[in-house]
Amino acid sequence: MNNNNKLKITFLGGVGEIGKNMTAFEYNNEIIIVDCGLTFPGDDLPGVDVVIPDFTYLAANKDKIKALLLTHGHEDHIGGVPFFLQQFSKVPIYGSKLTLALVDHKMREHQKVSYKAITVKPKNVLKIGSFSVEFIKVSHSIAGCLAMCITTPAGSVIHTGDFKIDFEPIDGTMTDLQRFGELGKKGVNLLLCESTNVCRPGYSISEKSVGRALDEIFKAHPDNRLFVATFASNIHRLQQILNLAEKYKRKVAFTGRSMLNIIDVGSKIGEITYNKDIIIDIDKIDKYSDKELLIVTTGSQGEPLSALTRMAMGEFKQIKIGANDVIIFSSSPIPGNEKSVYNVINALFQKGADVIYDELAEVHASGHACQEEIKTIHALVKPKFFMPIHGEYRHLKMHKQLAMMLGMQERNILLPAIGMQVEMSQNSIKKCGVVIAGQRLIDGYGIGDMESNVLKERKQLSEDGICVVGLTVNNVSGDLVGEPFIITRGVVYQDEAEAFVQDTKNMLIASLKEQDLRGCEPAVLRNTVKRAVSNFIFKRTKRKPMVLAIVILD
Ligand SMILES: [Zn+2]
Ligand SMILES: [Zn+2]
Repeated sequence: MNNNNKLKITFLGGVGEIGKNMTAFEYNNEIIIVDCGLTFPGDDLPGVDVVIPDFTYLAANKDKIKALLLTHGHEDHIGGVPFFLQQFSKVPIYGSKLTLALVDHKMREHQKVSYKAITVKPKNVLKIGSFSVEFIKVSHSIAGCLAMCITTPAGSVIHTGDFKIDFEPIDGTMTDLQRFGELGKKGVNLLLCESTNVCRPGYSISEKSVGRALDEIFKAHPDNRLFVATFASNIHRLQQILNLAEKYKRKVAFTGRSMLNIIDVGSKIGEITYNKDIIIDIDKIDKYSDKELLIVTTGSQGEPLSALTRMAMGEFKQIKIGANDVIIFSSSPIPGNEKSVYNVINALFQKGADVIYDELAEVHASGHACQEEIKTIHALVKPKFFMPIHGEYRHLKMHKQLAMMLGMQERNILLPAIGMQVEMSQNSIKKCGVVIAGQRLIDGYGIGDMESNVLKERKQLSEDGICVVGLTVNNVSGDLVGEPFIITRGVVYQDEAEAFVQDTKNMLIASLKEQDLRGCEPAVLRNTVKRAVSNFIFKRTKRKPMVLAIVILD
């Protein structure tokens, strides 16, 4: 099958949402995929651990898939890789050293699958079938980030991945603006540019200026015990924090498994360097005075089980927070987490600690380009066509407006959606179809789709509560033995509970009396009880709690 020398692009995730990025590029029976991420589920999916893209379209085109290319090691770009590899174990994976090290670490936590990983560097050009892919260095909040220029006979596409323009990068190499400009000059058909911070005017803060702000705080608090909470994956931030510890002669204790992982992975491949002597075990901190200590922790998002949250709640064995503690949130709340984060901040203040967070000082820099940086990329690449990616719908829409402000014609801009397919040739781009796409829910590390009734039950339990009914029936006479017992949780308010339970009992006794229960099957009895109780509760409360009936035949 020939697709008429057109490049087909299928959006499988990361558009209309921030999370589970995945895009497939298809030319002449060959597919290469960029990223395979996950999303952490919201409150609408209780109990689901992660959400990954639906691979139905890829499974149907399995033999065409030639490569999975990874832009960087954040979960929304690599989190789905272990699940992808279980289904497509023969597909080779390309990424930077750090990205692949993080994938490798992930794979060790999953079932063993052997796979092929190939390290690539900025400026490398890969030939994969009809595709030629050039990797371009970009800055972000994790090291080893790559944008890509994907070229086919149908034209070239620049995929920015996640990026910012940082003029003072920690690793010394900037987002390769020059290369973006050169490619722009040669002619780029389509720009796929990330949109996370498109609503923020100006420029993002440089990572180095965060280091300077942290330095000021270290300097101003020579006698306090210091804590820094940050994202585990932000290797350059961790590097700066470790440098400061050394400068101010403090020992560093890490808490949080993901933090220890990244330090381990990062130092193994040389992405992070530090004097091993300054690291101490969290269990040994009693041996040091406050001014000799720096505790680096996860939990900057107020995650309930994180070390920092437990410290704030007074539930962390090794550390009791007090008046001599200064806690720096070198992070900002991810939208949706604000309440949990401020709960932790309030609890820390209540324990007498001083808390410094991003509203009070420049202790965090976003890894995503703000408006002026995004404009810079548009100006350098000057694409014929443009599609905004990596954003909720409002971001994509705003990004479209920004591109039009820069002079792009509206007809040359398409807003992608999950499942949407577009066809690009040298002179045109158009929507050409919709494929099955969306969410796949992962419960625990168990692979496979979670049964929808489990979700329904969790939702029902969390929204409408539960009612347990137990009764004994004499099998011969069909009469009720004794009184039924009824327990409810989350159905009615405490002060109404007693009367409510009594009324339900009376109803049930009356209703069973009307029926001949002699020789009834237990399952039939259970259903009869369940139906009677459910209907009664719904009439009274307009709720539909889960009703469990336990029937004993005497
Ligand atoms: Zn990222
Ligand atoms: Zn991302």
